[in-house]
This record gives sequence, C-alpha cells and structure tokens, in this order.
Amino acid sequence: QEDFETRFNIPHITDIFHDAVPIPSTFCLKMRTPVTEDFAGGYPSDEEWHGYINKNDRVLLKVIHYSSPTSAGAECIDPDCSWVEQWVHRAGPREKIYFRPEEVKAAIVTCGGLCPGLNDVIRQIVITLEIYGVKKIVGIPFGYRGFSDKELTEMPLSRKVVQNVHLSGGSLLGVSRGGPGISEIVDSLEERGINMLFVLGGNGTHAGANAIHNECRKRRMRVAVVGVPKTIDNDILLMDKTFGFDTAVEEAQRAINSAYIEAHSAYHGVGIVKLMGRSSGYIAMHASLASGQIDICLIPEVSFNLHGPHGVLSHLKYLIETKGSAVICVAEGAGQNFLQKTNAKDASGNIVFGDFGVHIQQEIRKCFKEIGVPVDVKYIDPTYMIRACRANASDGILCTVLGQNAVHGAFAGYSGITVGICNTHYVYLPIPEVISYPRLVDPNSRMWHRCLTSTGQPDFI
Ligand code: ATP
Ligand code: MG
Repeated sequence: QEDFETRFNIPHITDIFHDAVPIPSTFCLKMRTPVTEDFAGGYPSDEEWHGYINKNDRVLLKVIHYSSPTSAGAECIDPDCSWVEQWVHRAGPREKIYFRPEEVKAAIVTCGGLCPGLNDVIRQIVITLEIYGVKKIVGIPFGYRGFSDKELTEMPLSRKVVQNVHLSGGSLLGVSRGGPGISEIVDSLEERGINMLFVLGGNGTHAGANAIHNECRKRRMRVAVVGVPKTIDNDILLMDKTFGFDTAVEEAQRAINSAYIEAHSAYHGVGIVKLMGRSSGYIAMHASLASGQIDICLIPEVSFNLHGPHGVLSHLKYLIETKGSAVICVAEGAGQNFLQKTNAKDASGNIVFGDFGVHIQQEIRKCFKEIGVPVDVKYIDPTYMIRACRANASDGILCTVLGQNAVHGAFAGYSGITVGICNTHYVYLPIPEVISYPRLVDPNSRMWHRCLTSTGQPDFI
C-alpha cells in the first residue's frame, strides 16, 4: 500500500477544482440478471447497481508467486521478497465527473512516427466524448507543431468525420517531430480554450504531455492532459503491450516469410530482415518466435560478436554448410557498436541510427568472398510498410478500450496520466512512471531464452 501511495498516486485536478457532477447515464452498466435471494443483504439492488469504477479500485501489476529469488530471476525487484505486490489504478467510468460536458473543448494530437491503430484511438476518443455530450472536439494537425504553425488550422471532429478512419492506417491528423516549446503550447491551449487534451505518442510525446500538464498546473488552468502510449516497439514500462505492436509482429512475419522463400529458393541464400526496435528488440524477438523461420535474431539488448570463432558470421558459415540457406532478423538498434558514430539527430533530438542491416549484408558478402564460398544475400527492410498498416483485430480492440478509457480518465479529473493494459486489465498510470526509461528485452528472461531455443542460435560471445 505504501509503495502504491508513493509510486502510483495519479494527479487529479481536484486541488484546483472541486465541483463534481454525475456522469451521464449512458455509461451506467445495468444489471441484466436479477439479484438472487442468496445475495440479499450485502449485494446491491437493481437500482443501486451501476458498475462505475470506484476510485479505490486497484489492479495487481504482477501475479506471479516466486518461491525463491533464483526462480524469479531478473524479474524479482526485491531479492528478499518472494511476493512482489504492486497495485495500480483501474481505468473506466467514474460516477462523479469533474467537467461539465457542455463546457468541454477537447483536442487530440498525434506525435512521433506512425503506428498501426492511431486512427482507431482517435475515432474512439471522439465517439466517447460525444456520448458524454461534448460538442467541441478538434484535432491538432501534424503533432505539437500544429499548436504553433499559423498555417495549420484545427480540424473539427465528430462521429461523422471519424466513422471510417480506422479502415486505413496512418493518422487522420498527421504526425511530426520537433515543434514548439511547452509554454507556447500551453499559451495556445489557453487561446483556443482547450480544457481536455488527448496526446497520442511515444516517450518523447509523453515527456511533452507531462510538461504541458505541469505548466497548466502552474498557471492553475483547469485542463486534463491524458496520454495514450503509441509505440510500435512495445517499449513502454509496466504495460503488457502497447497498441500497434501486435499488428507490427504480424506484418513482420510476412516479411520474414518472404525472406525465407527468397533464401531457400537461392543457392546459398541468405535473407536479412530489418525490423523496428531502436532500443528494444520486442518486435524482432516476437516476429522471430511467431514465424519459426529465423536462424539468427539480433537485438539491441544482447551484445554479440560478428567475427571470430563464436561470431555471427562463423555460425552463418555453419548454417550455409549444413542447411544451405539462412534467415537473419535484426532490430534497428542492434549492433550499433559496429558502425561509425555520427552525431546526427532528428527534429525531436533523437540520435539517428546507422543501418546495421546494410552493414551486416556487406560483411557477409566480404566474409564469404574471402573463403571462396558463393552466397546470395537479399536484404528486406519492411519498416515503413509495417508502420503504415491498418490495425489488426486484436489491436483494434486494444485501441478502442484505450480510447474510451482516456476519455473516462479526463472526465474523472485525472491529468498527467496515461492509459494502458497491465496484467490484462486497463489502468491509469502517472506519466513519469512509464517513461523514465524504455522497457527492454531482458536477456535473462524466459522469452529471450525461448527465442534462442526456437532459432537454435548460440551466444555469439
Ligand atoms: P516515437 O516512438 O515515434 O519516437 P515519440 O513520441 O518518442 O514517438 P519524438 O519525435 O521523440 O517521438 O517526440 C514527439 C514530440 O514530443 C516532438 O514534437 C518533440 O518535440 C516532443 N518531445 C520529445 N521529447 C520531449 C521532452 N523531453 N520534453 C518535451 N517535449 C518533448
Ligand atoms: Mg521516441
């Protein structure tokens, strides 16, 4: 409990605004089956039953009981503690809301790179806001830039506008990197009279959202800032998964399958597939596991040698000798230590990575040329094709629930929060908790070991 209070207490606007009104009855969960005699007494009557989330409802973050620190492995937070208990706030509609729907002007902004499901989230936020009775809903075009660029006008949103947007990938509102400073954004919120801001983006966007929330607090503005984590890499802390990840893995599998067919149809064929994952190799690991067609999976979290008797190239020679072909999957951020460092940065200040996929392709050609063995190397980079995809069914559901809960969270008066799925339940988390560093694949985890078992690759060290 103490841990919960200190870590997961989520900011609420009640410190500057106290008047609550009842939530519209549209969000009332009516009981469909009559309450039986057995429950008479403590059980709520039909009239009392409403199904709203109580503000003290909690979701348990981890449900595994470790009998020893060694069986817990790297997952054990406290080595003396066999039962790691962490509780977080449950998401959903609250009985009392802190904004009168007729006084709300809500804005949605999407920042960073593309990710499958952005349109699904936008759509669901708009639909849910309308059910609350909100009339003024706008989209800010091209990320945070839309707050400062006078050429860009806000886009009015309604159910009619968003009805079919989820049928295509991308973002209806457009995305961008870089843009104005925090005080300029908050000035713009004030000017436009926006009091609910929904921010869809990754770590950088969330850092911005939290700064906007803090600045609004400082100016005592009654604004709820709610984030929905958008990271195709699945690198947000504490969450089971983020939207777009599932679709990305599915699409990545298709690229791997093509690489496999190319490699197996060629004499001494080698297929290389580069996938997303700047610091976290989740897509590469999951796509390798899902396809079952990868012989070597390289991710940023696990260091490896390229040359030498235990290096990747030596294993590749063995694969060509024994199997006649091989398929390699590399995450974007893998093997950066083999590339020349550049100081190039993108508009948001992120370091621009070198292309290890291209590098390993050259090294393979060079190495096999030296030993006089012919190889036919094919390099596939499906990154942009994956990012622009439409969300699959599983992500579609995730986006829908996240979008609805973002709106419930804002109406409940929370600000500086983000929504996510933890341990299969939907929760609200304080933004700083989830962006302090990227979630990484643990090289000691069962999942990475399962991946190694599936590919059959050695340690490369
Ligand atoms: P992606 O996963 O696609 O990289 P991202 O949200 O991390 O998504 P960025 O390009 O890093 O994408 O950042 C998006 C926006 O957030 C940019 O407009 C950038 O200016 C802003 N931003 C990034 N980092 C910060 C920060 N620390 N504080 C305030 N704003 C930030
Ligand atoms: Mg980022």
